[in-house]
Amino acid sequence: MGAMKFINLENNAKARRHQSIIKESNIKQIFDLVFENEGISRIEISRITNLSRSTVSLLMEELMGAGLIRGTGERASDFSGRKPIGLEINGDRAQIITLSLRKDNYRYILYDIRGRELEKFSSRIVYKKGCAAKIWKAVKSRSSRLDESRLLGVCVSIPAKINKAEKSINLSILDTDNNFDLLKELKSMRQELPLTAVNQSSARAYAEYKYIYNGKNGDMIYFNIDDGVGAGIMVNGRLFTGEIGHMSIDPKGPLCVCGKKGCLENLIRKTAVIREFAERSGGDKTGLLYALSGGRQGDINYRLIREALEQGDLKVLAAARDIAEKIALGISNVICMFDPEKIVVGGNILELGRTFLDMILSRVKIPGSSGKCLDASGQIAGSGIGDDAENLGVLRFFLDKVFTISVETENTVYLGD
Ligand SMILES: [Zn+2]
Repeated sequence: MGAMKFINLENNAKARRHQSIIKESNIKQIFDLVFENEGISRIEISRITNLSRSTVSLLMEELMGAGLIRGTGERASDFSGRKPIGLEINGDRAQIITLSLRKDNYRYILYDIRGRELEKFSSRIVYKKGCAAKIWKAVKSRSSRLDESRLLGVCVSIPAKINKAEKSINLSILDTDNNFDLLKELKSMRQELPLTAVNQSSARAYAEYKYIYNGKNGDMIYFNIDDGVGAGIMVNGRLFTGEIGHMSIDPKGPLCVCGKKGCLENLIRKTAVIREFAERSGGDKTGLLYALSGGRQGDINYRLIREALEQGDLKVLAAARDIAEKIALGISNVICMFDPEKIVVGGNILELGRTFLDMILSRVKIPGSSGKCLDASGQIAGSGIGDDAENLGVLRFFLDKVFTISVETENTVYLGD
């Protein structure tokens, strides 16, 4: 009898656990719907989720009791004469800190739980021991809207390969020394809160997917061509990081830090692109780049190259076509593996302007048949999300995949997919 009782008890505990998982999933589904459809009514939620109206009412009561959702007031009545109450996330209830780490600086944006930006600033930083304390000090002194008692978490985008098994980062473009544990350092910033860390390319991809494509356009690859090179891949709503920067497109190319030759990253990242333009036309006294930089090759940057491109300098255009060819080859290789519905090109390469972007987009090929490949023009586009992409991406990743409502969000380190 004792054994029976024991089994019964365990079953009950199991059932309770199961019930709490179902409840969390339902309540989160409702929260997400209100987040994405401000003004939605209980009836509409019930219709979309297939949850009964009484279940929706019950869970809504809890969400409103917790202050997470509030009514927007009555909407115009329909023909039945009933006036459904519109619902919205209560932004005042909670806040989320996001940090986008870049080579020698970071961008801080504080959002409310409704996803509205409360404040932001950018600052230079050296990534070494004590840097998180420095960031926190800057936040505390420059912030006017941060309310620590309402903070849900700290979310960070990092331009590095995030190793989930070892909880570490590598192949980073941040200048850090080997013994420095950046994740641990960042967690120590607010030890009592969960830290969510997502690879930069993935964070940008997730923002693009959620805000531009509204998450409904099927599988997507985002090529992040920046100070480093990577890809964020969305497949069936799941996010993956693609280390495409270390895909070789030239076996006789320059040696990479990863040990291989001709890695894409060494050919198309920002410093490499600027170097190529400078070497090919920066020293040409009759050329526009020479005039724009005052003959100082070290002063050549994306802004000057863009100007020379837009004014139609022939040598600059020739160099641009060659670089666009390399980028397009890398992209074409990767899409052979996935056949995504949407291909997005983003990162600071876009600072070179529309002329250069069009050179890339028109050169990307997808496999066809009978010896002819197809151009990808219907599927490929430049990123539309802008400078806050990483911050928006980690914010949404946190809200969608880490934040919990009816069970406590675990205080740990979440690493992006
Ligand atoms: Zn490499």
